[in-house]
Amino acid sequence: MDIDEYRAAFDAWLDDNREQLAPAYEGKGTLDEQMAQIAKVKRLAFDADFGRWGWPERVGGLGGSTLFRAYLQEAVTARDLVEPGLFSMQEVLAPTMIDFAAPELAATMVARLLRGDETWCQGFSEPGTGSNLGSLSCRSVRDGDTWRVTGQKVWTSLAQYAQRCVLLTRSGTPESAHRGITALFLDMDSPGITVRPIETMHGSLEFSEVFFDDVVVPAERMLGAEGQGWSVAMDLLPYERSTALWQRAAFLHSRLQRLLEVAPPGSLDPLKLGEVTQTLYAFRARSRGTQHRMASGAPLGSETSIDKVLLATAEQAVFDLVADTLPAEVTVGDDVESHLWRTEYLYSRAASIYGGSSEIQRNIIARRLLDLGSDR
Ligand SMILES: Cc1cc2nc3c(=O)[nH]c(=O)nc-3n(C[C@H](O)[C@H](O)[C@H](O)COP(=O)(O)OP(=O)(O)OC[C@H]3O[C@@H](n4cnc5c(N)ncnc54)[C@H](O)[C@@H]3O)c2cc1C
Repeated sequence: MDIDEYRAAFDAWLDDNREQLAPAYEGKGTLDEQMAQIAKVKRLAFDADFGRWGWPERVGGLGGSTLFRAYLQEAVTARDLVEPGLFSMQEVLAPTMIDFAAPELAATMVARLLRGDETWCQGFSEPGTGSNLGSLSCRSVRDGDTWRVTGQKVWTSLAQYAQRCVLLTRSGTPESAHRGITALFLDMDSPGITVRPIETMHGSLEFSEVFFDDVVVPAERMLGAEGQGWSVAMDLLPYERSTALWQRAAFLHSRLQRLLEVAPPGSLDPLKLGEVTQTLYAFRARSRGTQHRMASGAPLGSETSIDKVLLATAEQAVFDLVADTLPAEVTVGDDVESHLWRTEYLYSRAASIYGGSSEIQRNIIARRLLDLGSDR
C-alpha cells in the first residue's frame, strides 16, 4: 500500500463509519468523555487495520511507511473526532518503547496502546527540573532483580488515566548529571504511587503530580541499559516534536477555516490574516519535511526544535487572531462555541511550554544547529 492508497482507503472508511466514530458529546466534552472517545476511535481504527499500518510487525503493526501514521493523525483531527494533543501521545511514547524496550516487552505492550486498551504517561519533569532535565532527582536504587523508586514528577499528562509510565530516574549520584539516569517502564497501579491531578488554565485536570514511595519495578522493565536514560530521553523528545506535531497543523488549519466562516463581516484584519496564514503554512511545510525524513528512516534530532518553535508561534498566532476577531466569545461568551474558542485560546498559551519551552528550543537551535556557542 502507498500513501495515496492509504489516504483514499482511510477517508472512505471514515465516511462509511461516520456515525459510529462521532463523539457522543457536543463541543469539547469533559476530559473523561474525550478519553473515552480517543479509546473508541483507536480501537475501531486498529481493528480495521488502519491503526496498525506504519508500525512494525513485531509490535502488532502491519509495517509500511510512518506517513500512514501521520495521515491517520491528520484525518481524525481534521474531522474533529478526537482531542488532537491527547490522541497523539502514542506518537510520543510508542516509538521510543520500540527503540529501547526488550523486544518481548515492546511486543506485549505497544499494541495495547495503539488499540486504545491502555493509556501511558511520560514522567520526565519534576518540581525543580523541567528545562534542565539532566538534573532530575527522582531516585532509583537497584535491589537485586528490581529497582526501587522514590521521588516526585509533575505536569505528567493523563497520569490519572495511565496504566503505564515511561519514567526517568536518577540511578547515579546527584553529580552524575545526564550520565546517571535510568529509564523505567512502570505499572501505574504499583503500590506506592499517588497521583494528584492539577487543573490547567483552561479548567481541565489534564496533568498531575505523581509521587513515588519506594515503588518496586522489575529490572526487565528497564528501557535501555542502566545509566542509558539520557539516550532514551534524547530519542523520545524528537518524536514529541515530529509525528506528534503533524496533527496540530491540521487542527490549526480547521480552526482558521472555522474563524473565516463565523467572523462578523469586516472584523478580520486582512493583514493579520495574511501573516497568520503564512506562519501556519511555514510550520506545516517544515513539519511535512520532518514526516518525510522520518519515513525515509533518517534519525531525528535537534533539528526538530525548529518544528516545535514554529508550532508554538503558529498556534499562538492563530488564537491571537481568534481573540482579536471574536473578543466576546473568547472572554465572556457562555455558549458551546464560545467555550470551545476560549478553551483552545487558553491552551494555545501552553504550546510554547510543553515538549520543551520555546526559549530552550531556540537555545538548542543556536548552539547545536547554528554553532553559536557552547552551553557554558
Ligand atoms: C500542557 C502541558 C503538558 C505537559 N505534559 C508533560 C508530561 O506529560 N510529562 C512531563 O514530563 N512534562 C510535561 N510537561 C512539562 C513541560 O515539559 C515543562 O513545563 C517544560 O519542559 C518547562 O519546564 P518547567 O515548567 O520546569 O519550566 P522551567 O524550566 O522552570 O522554565 C521556566 C522559564 O524559564 C525559561 N528558561 C529555563 N531555562 C532557560 C535557559 N537556560 N535559557 C533561557 N530560558 C530558560 C523557560 O523557557 C521558561 O520560560 C507539560 C507541560 C505542559 C504545559
